[in-house]
Amino acid sequence: MRYEPVIGMEVHVELNTQSKMFCACRADIFGAAPNTHVCPVCLGMPGVLPVINQKAVEYTIMLGQALNCEIQLHNVFARKNYFYPDLPKGYQISQYELPLCLNGYVDVQPEGSPEPRRIRIRRVHLEEDTGKLTHVGDYSLVDLNRAGVPLVEIVTEADIHSAEEAYLYVSKLRQIVRYLGISTGDMEKGAMRCEVNLSLKNAATGEWGTKVEIKNLNSFRSVRNAIEYEVQRQEKVLAEGGAVEQVTMGWDENRQVTFVQRVKEGDVGYRYFPEPDLPPLYLEASWVEQIRAGLPELPDAKLARYTTDYGLTDKEAAVLAEDRATAEYFEAVVQAAADFPGVTPKQVSNWISGELFRLLSESGLEIGQVNIAPAHLAALIALVNANTINQTAAKKTFKVMFETGRAPKDIVRELGLEQISDAGQLEQLVRQVIADNPEAVERYRSGQEKVLGFLVGQVMRASRGKANPQLVGDLLKKELQTG
Ligand SMILES: [Zn+2]
Repeated sequence: MRYEPVIGMEVHVELNTQSKMFCACRADIFGAAPNTHVCPVCLGMPGVLPVINQKAVEYTIMLGQALNCEIQLHNVFARKNYFYPDLPKGYQISQYELPLCLNGYVDVQPEGSPEPRRIRIRRVHLEEDTGKLTHVGDYSLVDLNRAGVPLVEIVTEADIHSAEEAYLYVSKLRQIVRYLGISTGDMEKGAMRCEVNLSLKNAATGEWGTKVEIKNLNSFRSVRNAIEYEVQRQEKVLAEGGAVEQVTMGWDENRQVTFVQRVKEGDVGYRYFPEPDLPPLYLEASWVEQIRAGLPELPDAKLARYTTDYGLTDKEAAVLAEDRATAEYFEAVVQAAADFPGVTPKQVSNWISGELFRLLSESGLEIGQVNIAPAHLAALIALVNANTINQTAAKKTFKVMFETGRAPKDIVRELGLEQISDAGQLEQLVRQVIADNPEAVERYRSGQEKVLGFLVGQVMRASRGKANPQLVGDLLKKELQTG
């Protein structure tokens, strides 16, 4: 019997607004001493009133638009009632019947699949985060810094069919929130948290199996591994004639297994009702449109533009569009290249994904910290194109540019890196190398043409890396034929 995994995801993303969702406490709580970012509102004291954070609403609209959702101009905050020690009010302010965003989608591109796969987004709503418990022996500590931090929840339809698709979906989601600048998306710091609903569909009968929830997946890797593990576990249960239980599971990172957290007994019953302390939210259509107009160009659009306008391959384009800072640097260099005829976007792409990335990873710097002016990189490429310097000298120059931010022209002059393209000057070196390497010359003349590379290398060395390698090759060939 064959089964197809049917997976829906719920992803929570913390917004990086300055203040919390319903009070003026600072929302950047990571690393702060416990219970230092709190006030009567987020502590849930009696008699206090929440105030909606406009920035959080704006960020949620941005996300909804980036995820191709309909933005609901009329929406309502609702109370989700449940008891838990990290929830001081005894309820969470969330959205239920009328969320901010509905009916969107995200396209992901699995490796080897000809078409992208569309994952529909059911809803995106805004709520507040809970506090945090730390369990120590037989008691627990509570930190309410996180209580009230703005949180969006993004819920998909059950359109995901493999661990890889789930992985691609959460990666894309993080890429989008980072492009929008509305969240750090750092899973290891809890700014993005994933839950998976998974069941197996019988491929023959089309019948859906029992749905199992896996909560608190805190890394991309754990999303992928937990789904793979759970699919295999359920397949085994069914193959042995058993039944999958409707349970909520956790993921044990150390043992790489899912484990039952609690057995579900029907609907938990959150007794949702409209939040009486907040008026319904009526958004002006003009404001929503203004937000749309201010959206940055998103990864998919960049990818398409880089391949069609700049002639990059899908892979090259994806590397540059991966994060917004890299894409913006690339575009700045391409723009500066307008002053240097002949410098192509492809060459710019090669320098960024090659030498620049190499130096960044060596130095541990981020692209935002690079102090090579875009015009300087374009100028360096122009020097190579004009045969003023060769590739080796260009790399040397680039390293100094990376370290000092100076102009390539000055560095080339100072280090004496100009390429020797004077045939007369090179002929001498070529003759010398031929005279010094009779054995190699003999092998070349007997038909081993690969030896030419060795001889070119010798001339390059004699010129201390400054000879024009193309010209050296030509001169060598000529000399070896006539000699
Ligand atoms: Zn507060």
